[in-house]
Amino acid sequence: MPLRLGILGGTFDPIHLGHLRAAEEAMDILGLDGVKFVPAAVPPHKQTSNIVSFENRWRMLELAVAGNPRLSLSDIELRMPGKSYTVHSLRRTGEENPGAELFFLVGCDAFFDMNSWYDFREIFKLARIVVMCRPECGLEEILGFAVANVSGLYKTASETGQIRHPELHSIYKLLNTRLDISSTRVRELVAEGRSIRYLVPDSVWSYIGERGLYAGADGRPDF
Ligand code: ATP
Ligand code: MG
Repeated sequence: MPLRLGILGGTFDPIHLGHLRAAEEAMDILGLDGVKFVPAAVPPHKQTSNIVSFENRWRMLELAVAGNPRLSLSDIELRMPGKSYTVHSLRRTGEENPGAELFFLVGCDAFFDMNSWYDFREIFKLARIVVMCRPECGLEEILGFAVANVSGLYKTASETGQIRHPELHSIYKLLNTRLDISSTRVRELVAEGRSIRYLVPDSVWSYIGERGLYAGADGRPDF
């Protein structure tokens, strides 16, 4: 049986339980052998000046995946020169894992933005796409986006949550537990001096506190 490998790219600034739970459910529902988290070294879509260092984001990822042998990290985007483009990372991951079946995990917000990504149509040739609800996305919307932007030959396959294509890989809508957690929200809470416990792993919560990451003015209301 070929290795079934999930790839979850992102800024992870910081990693939170929304990422981890979605990865867990993708492994569970789709029978994946593991998920690789691929932090972006230079995220093409984000203002780099506000992002904490790669080293800090990597360390938080290490803490978050510790104890789960099916979760791993990839420094592929650090090793490749220039901006981090998903298509390059996926191609390289395929080369480094010969014979593996790749499942590109993507939140629905990011999925609907894929038509702005560099060489995005290639992504649909390199990996199956797993769209994770966050908090809501419809199968028809996903189909509509793929038909409009990638190929008119995509079709839904009955009730399976799959969108199939005669040549390209399928797209799958993951019925994951929707957790409305974002890194933006975590950063805002820290900046306001509020608790992020139970939004991120305890080890990540401690790391952020010890390093003073994301800290800002204390915004606690005068009550
Ligand atoms: P930010 O708020 O800074 O954009 P984020 O929470 O969206 O951070 P990213 O690092 O941008 O985190 O996300 C990486 C990937 O994980 C994206 O595909 C995103 O859609 C997905 N993702 C993030 N949070 C969730 C969540 N709560 N549930 C499902 N998928 C998620
Ligand atoms: Mg995001």
